Amino acid sequence: MATTSAPEDAYTATPFLPAGRPSLAALRRAAAGCRGCPLHRNATQTVFGQGSAHARVMLVGEQPGDQEDRQGEPFVGPAGRLLGKALEEAGLDPADAYVTNAVKHFKFTWAETRKRRIHKPPTLREMSACGPWLAAELTVVAPELVVVLGATAGKALLGSSFRVGEVRGTVLEREIHGRPERLVPTVHPSSVLRADDREHAYQGLVADLRVAAQALS
Ligand code: SF4
Repeated sequence: MATTSAPEDAYTATPFLPAGRPSLAALRRAAAGCRGCPLHRNATQTVFGQGSAHARVMLVGEQPGDQEDRQGEPFVGPAGRLLGKALEEAGLDPADAYVTNAVKHFKFTWAETRKRRIHKPPTLREMSACGPWLAAELTVVAPELVVVLGATAGKALLGSSFRVGEVRGTVLEREIHGRPERLVPTVHPSSVLRADDREHAYQGLVADLRVAAQALS
């Protein structure tokens, strides 16, 4: 079994996955005890994906944020609220979506005052370590479409050369973890919150999600 002192190239969630064909509930329970990379050490808890095993669309983000880490659910913070609004505006029912992240633990540094936790992007090693959970979610949910939210999710699913600006708002067809998938990349909703022209960035997100809605119809 992997240990927390493993070298970086040995990071992997694989030993923590249940054998056989586990349900989402079994995966969630097992992921709660994952020690496949060091990110579990400082985070509050594993934040596994959420939604129906029969969801038609899977939304994949980067990693849990501060609120998600505290509450144990993905996309419950400000970016998640913005995403829910954009989904509805694009004609996608948030209740028909399975939402998850490429990395299941919150990575952060403390602000100097130690009062605020500042998001830190996961490394390629950490993304790759956490990949078996995402692959297992894709196998169980078998979505008709995957919406890729931002660069980290794109790199985790499509490789390190992924550039969101080059492919956002298009339908890609790729084999991912042995399954043919259709994917629509777009920006992460947190980038909309950080944008100078927030309304323009928001409309761009909605436009990309409309491509996803059309691909599902
Ligand atoms: S980030 Fe992923 S691989 Fe690393 S400990 Fe958390 S669940 Fe396991």
